[in-house]
Amino acid sequence: MSKIGFIGLGIMGSPMAGHLVRAGHDVTGFDLSEDSLARLRAAAGNVAGSVAEAVGGAEIIATMLPADPQVEAVVLGENGVLDNAGPGALLIDFSSITPQTSRRVAREGAAKGLRVLDAPVSGGERGAVDAVLSIMVGGSQEDFDAAVPIFETVGKTYRLVGPAGAGQYVKAANQLVVGGTYALVAEAIVLMEAAGVNAAAGLEVLAGGLAAGRILDLKREAMLARDFQPGFRIDLHHKDMGIVLEAARGAEVAIPMGALVAQLIASARAQGHGGLDHSALLKVAENLSGR
Ligand code: NAD
Repeated sequence: MSKIGFIGLGIMGSPMAGHLVRAGHDVTGFDLSEDSLARLRAAAGNVAGSVAEAVGGAEIIATMLPADPQVEAVVLGENGVLDNAGPGALLIDFSSITPQTSRRVAREGAAKGLRVLDAPVSGGERGAVDAVLSIMVGGSQEDFDAAVPIFETVGKTYRLVGPAGAGQYVKAANQLVVGGTYALVAEAIVLMEAAGVNAAAGLEVLAGGLAAGRILDLKREAMLARDFQPGFRIDLHHKDMGIVLEAARGAEVAIPMGALVAQLIASARAQGHGGLDHSALLKVAENLSGR
């Protein structure tokens, strides 16, 4: 069992840290929010008062932070992870950030004797709670192998997809598909409701046919009830679509559907829905049809 420092105990990090505690690891967590720390305490984890305290002496350091600025501050910043981790520690960054920042973390980490993996996840809050996350990993085979006991505790499907930063490109691809699927399910609901058919029964049929998928399975009832509690906030998906479009530009590929999804998410945000779940794309679809 490993001594683990876990930083970022929000919607995703909190259940992930809880699974690691229950698997018998010695987990010390840090977060800026008191509620997050209280959840870790309730899960029998140790609570630290700073990043330095959480990572000092840890063999494995896990981070699950919102976006690039937080990862830069917590990992690369003054008195952050790199300043306080012991040599040879393995840093697993589960955050969804730009490939560029992941590569910078790997480079600066290596210069301080740390091993680094970018390991963004998919599966949503439900996937984190049920420990069935999909994990896309960038880094070396040796470091991936060392992290497998952690991945199998919080996830179900995990693959090494390339060198540092590679996991973030796969996560970008994932966000493209998830955002597009939500946008289309939202339009399907608007169409069925406007036509006066039984949309609940309609979505059940869709979920049994070729349109089947986890979004229909897990979210259709909440969407029909207009329950948009996050989940995954529109603000975070907006951040991810920025990464998607930048990745496409860098790779010199055209992703017109991705650009459209990014605009729909931008619209949700501009209408004040940034704090709602990304299924609130339904509100945008309704607005477009004056409903
Ligand atoms: P969240 O906002 O619920 O959690 C982030 C946590 O980080 C918060 O508790 C916050 O207090 C903490 N934090 C921020 N700055 C900090 C700092 N300087 N020091 C210590 N703690 C700090 O976000 P989330 O939904 O858990 O998402 C985390 C990451 O996972 C994001 O990159 C997101 O894109 C990705 N992700 C989220 C989901 C989802 O469904 N929510 C799914 C897959 C991936």
